[in-house]
Amino acid sequence: MRHKLRTRLSITHGVIALATISIIVLLSSMWVDRQFIDFVKDNNERRIESIVHDISHQYHKEWDKEKLEETGQRALKDGLVIAIIDTNGKVIYDVGKVSKKGTEELLAPINRNMREHYGNWTGELVTKKITISHEYKKVGELEISYYEPFYFTERDSRFIYSLHDVLNITEVISLAGALILGLIIARQISMPLTRAIQVTKEIASGNLKERAYIKSDMAEIKDLTDSVNLLAETLQEHEGIRKRIVADVSHELRTPLSAIQINLEALVDGVLQPTHARLDGIYKEVLRVNRLVGDLTKLAKYESRSEKITISKFNFKNIIASIVTTFESEIHKKNLSITVHNNIEEISGDEDKLSQVIVNILSNSIKYSKKSGVITIETAEQENNVVIKIRDQGIGIPPEDLPYIFERFYRVDKSRDKATGGSGIGLTIAKEIIEAHGGTISINSKFGVGTETSIILPK
Ligand code: ADP
Repeated sequence: MRHKLRTRLSITHGVIALATISIIVLLSSMWVDRQFIDFVKDNNERRIESIVHDISHQYHKEWDKEKLEETGQRALKDGLVIAIIDTNGKVIYDVGKVSKKGTEELLAPINRNMREHYGNWTGELVTKKITISHEYKKVGELEISYYEPFYFTERDSRFIYSLHDVLNITEVISLAGALILGLIIARQISMPLTRAIQVTKEIASGNLKERAYIKSDMAEIKDLTDSVNLLAETLQEHEGIRKRIVADVSHELRTPLSAIQINLEALVDGVLQPTHARLDGIYKEVLRVNRLVGDLTKLAKYESRSEKITISKFNFKNIIASIVTTFESEIHKKNLSITVHNNIEEISGDEDKLSQVIVNILSNSIKYSKKSGVITIETAEQENNVVIKIRDQGIGIPPEDLPYIFERFYRVDKSRDKATGGSGIGLTIAKEIIEAHGGTISINSKFGVGTETSIILPK
């Protein structure tokens, strides 16, 4: 059966409170009873001593009958039945005879009371004989009857019953308090959870702007709220990226695809002849679209951070050398010279992704270099960072374009880039990768003079 958290917490709390409080009250009652019985026993002994003391002082050559009656009635109230017999065996005083009742009859109220309230009471009527002396001379004998091992007088009973009443009232009040407290705690835990559930449901239904504002001093609830909000923010961010990419892709693909469509239509209709040059033009457009789609896929992965960075140590010198080799034919075509000043053997990072960054930047430098230009690659250690600089003597970037150079699809001169095959994504990808490594990338450029790209990576 599925219970609500609040109900379950309240029930558990209630059961624990009931069990604990009942055990405490039960043990306290037992302890109080034992202590009280010990006290009653002691008290009875003291009472008997006091009666003996009183009676021995009631003999002055003769017995004071009036005082004896007083003592006898007082003793009877305390559950003691007394009789005095003189040295000749003559009964001087007998409380039973005075009230014309037998001992058992006299103590019947005590017997009834004890049996009523203490089911397992095993009181037995005993009679003890105590010698009464006056001036070191025996003057008689006191016969005293009472219940052993203990009994409660009316006053004792009243006292112990009220003590039990107090314990029972305490039990009820504590139980009620514990239940109320349990309900409050259960509410404090369940309310924020219910709110968090509502928010996640809202988010799941597409309302990504919804946030959980839950006040709670419980660390777990605070963590849960933060996690739900972080989830909503991440989803919102991803949703934004997704929308932007869809918009950008359709915009970027429309132009080359329309060009291909128009050219192909003209060829199909026979308006244009399928010359080698025309087919080559269409083929180059298709290649451009293909490259663009490839770049976009990579960018989408980096932007959504779904592409994990795998850090390892690798030989940077070798990487630069092999990248330069892949560009050999272009370098040769433009008669460029590449100088490498590498002061670092090894660096830490994602080898494939950092290689991609160098490829993107170097390919730009080559693409935008004038004939016979020089490209310099420099690496150095600076404090806790590795600094990589790639410099060219190319056409440079106008200052007004410089702030937007890392933006997706940003190209300085669209018609120029059409010729160079650029899609305006290379630097965006480079920036995403460097930032995922915790580094920075920046470009300095003088229009018509050259460009310098600097990368700073933490070691
Ligand atoms: P692309 O794929 O078009 O090269 P990038 O994101 O790599 O895209 O670069 C964006 C734009 O920045 C390029 O279109 C180009 O106009 C300009 N650019 C980048 N690097 C250089 C450079 N070294 N020299 C001159 N212009 C550059």
